[in-house]
Amino acid sequence: MSVLETNPPRFTLDEAARIAADAFGVVGAATDLGSERDQAFLIDGGAGGAILKVSNSGEDEAVLDLEERAIAHVLAVDPGLPVARPLGRTTYDGHHVRLFELLHGHKGDHTLGDAAVRDYAETHARLNLALRSFFHPAAARDLLWDVGQAPRLRPLIAAIDDERRRGLAERAIDRFEAEVAPHLPLLRAQVVHGDFNLDNVLLDDDDRISGIVDFGDCAYGPQVGDFAIALASLMRGRAGGEVFRIARLAIDGYASRVPFEPLELELLAGLVEARLVAIVAISAWRVRSYPENAAYIQSWDDDSWRLLELFDEVGAATVRRELGAAQPPARTVELVRRRSAALGALLTPLTYADPVHPVRGEGAWLFDAAGRRLLDAYNNVPVVGHCHPRVTEAVVDQTRRLNTHARYLYEPLVELAERLIASMPPAARLDTVMLVNSGSEANDLAWRLAAAATGSRGAVVTEHAYHGVTAATSDLSPEEWPVGVVAHDVARISPPGRGGDLDGDFDDALAALDGLAAVFLDGALTSDGVYTPSGDELHRLVERTHAAGGLYVADEVQAGHGRMGDELWSFARHGLAPDVVTLGKPMGNGYPVAAVVTRRDIVDRFPFAGRTFSTFGGNPVAARAALAVLDVIDDERLVAHAAAVGEALRSEIAAIGSDDVVEVRGSGLIVGVQLCSAERARAVVDALRADGVLIGRTGKDEDVLKIRPPLVFGDEHVAVLVAALRRALR
Ligand code: PMP
Repeated sequence: MSVLETNPPRFTLDEAARIAADAFGVVGAATDLGSERDQAFLIDGGAGGAILKVSNSGEDEAVLDLEERAIAHVLAVDPGLPVARPLGRTTYDGHHVRLFELLHGHKGDHTLGDAAVRDYAETHARLNLALRSFFHPAAARDLLWDVGQAPRLRPLIAAIDDERRRGLAERAIDRFEAEVAPHLPLLRAQVVHGDFNLDNVLLDDDDRISGIVDFGDCAYGPQVGDFAIALASLMRGRAGGEVFRIARLAIDGYASRVPFEPLELELLAGLVEARLVAIVAISAWRVRSYPENAAYIQSWDDDSWRLLELFDEVGAATVRRELGAAQPPARTVELVRRRSAALGALLTPLTYADPVHPVRGEGAWLFDAAGRRLLDAYNNVPVVGHCHPRVTEAVVDQTRRLNTHARYLYEPLVELAERLIASMPPAARLDTVMLVNSGSEANDLAWRLAAAATGSRGAVVTEHAYHGVTAATSDLSPEEWPVGVVAHDVARISPPGRGGDLDGDFDDALAALDGLAAVFLDGALTSDGVYTPSGDELHRLVERTHAAGGLYVADEVQAGHGRMGDELWSFARHGLAPDVVTLGKPMGNGYPVAAVVTRRDIVDRFPFAGRTFSTFGGNPVAARAALAVLDVIDDERLVAHAAAVGEALRSEIAAIGSDDVVEVRGSGLIVGVQLCSAERARAVVDALRADGVLIGRTGKDEDVLKIRPPLVFGDEHVAVLVAALRRALR
């Protein structure tokens, strides 16, 4: 027979006082503390008093052992938790009787302040952490209060008199069965307190928990189910407008010690609702058997009904969202409308007439709002694959520890700077790093360094180059120049590797400029249409740059991080020694982080040295992301992989044998497919999108297919891409 169906013990106050004195030598007057199925007394006297608990005769001795060992375990793991210690156990008149340490404090209620709410939930998380490694065979208990077993409340719901409320409770259980129960086996489970509610904790003068009592419902179950019990207690009795705000503060408090898993937050609302239904259903059922204990049994009913009615009123989806569940994706058309309403015309338009609306990524794949899978052969930012666990975990872990700025001392920034310096070819003597937030910012600083170091204002870039969006770098980006706009002090040369007259171009450029500060070169010549110049051409360009007094800025925002195969940095493949290297896009796999790497003698000529600071630049999280990317590139041997897969990709594209393909260019996993016309290129890009493959277009005439996938692109992805390309070119 369950403890809810056997008669609770009914000792008088005098008997309780006598038991305390006879069995435990604690002499004092007894006060009844109220209980559902047991009896609990305060014995006031002796050495500060104690709590006497008389168990229900249906209580299994193994369960008492479970309670006592759980408490001992908690105190051993986290001695700071104020858990009431068991002081002794005996039997009396067929009942187990235990004496517990008396802890001091007052009871909290719905007026608990914000800080106390957070502290309460944080303490609960600590308790669960302390219990994480605890095991006891009796923990596999069958309790009607188990929130995971809510459907077992159905027969009890019949005892609810009010028909409307009965219907409400029924619907809640229906929802639980459909939406919560199927996922319960996937939740983190362990032995939990089982009844961490405001009546089972004591608070000090600052409303911080000073006592945790009553392990009587201790059992094995989902951790978030246990939190739902605590949350229901914190939410009950609050005014409607406060309920969810308070709940979210409690979620924050718990998560500050034990972060929730996404599924836990998905199910939390349903579990809170199950707890509330358990309160009202068990109360309705028990009060029929024990009308004399009605005041105690029904004491939570009103608050619980009010909450259930509020949940019903706002709807289950809202409750779930308010308690942290992910929102379902917005409808794509609706989001397009909101985007243009809120952002206007300043931002670049969306790619494709049928916009890509991704909601999740994994490796080389994106998944859109409609649940379709798209092969990502376009994005170089997720260099080690979308949502790579190493980078994700590094970002999350560091976010939880500390995120601050570079005027304070922390290791990741220094380690990253050291790693970058060590990764550069020694002959270049690149020994100084500045961390910033974007490729544009890196190139902007590179430009300022070059102008200061050379005392000149002239720049040379390739014909259709892109180097950024700042005032200086948009001048260096003819790709973005509106028709008729030509930047002063910027001269253009045709991209090396295209078979132009490099020396002739360079002579013309110098003639047009009043001194040379720098040549900026994207190692992959991406926006020019993807060219791969020979080492000789590049050495010649650098020689001429230096001879003209300028600096060579290697823009590795596209070409770096192994994209071109062979080496981490593209210039290193030809033994070039840049004066300044800029890094960006792939550097944090999507976390904003970029860098300038240069030589000390260049920095020494920069009047703003020592005054250069970028608030987010190289913050601990950014630096951890960048370090994780470098680690993954090493561990997964992605540089060699990019070389091999890129080679295979190019030869398979060439083997399609389409008349529309003029040339297949590139190195590693930057591939340019020169088509016969811009219209053809556009049609192919659109056809591939319709076929679930994302690529882009590039080149001055936009007639080059740009294929630049995450470096984890493998043979299976090549097969998908080439098959789609073959269909599109047919
Ligand atoms: N340099 C190159 C070669 C780039 O391709 C880009 C971005 N496409 C940038 C600089 C600018 O980087 P960001 O967009 O991070 O400012």
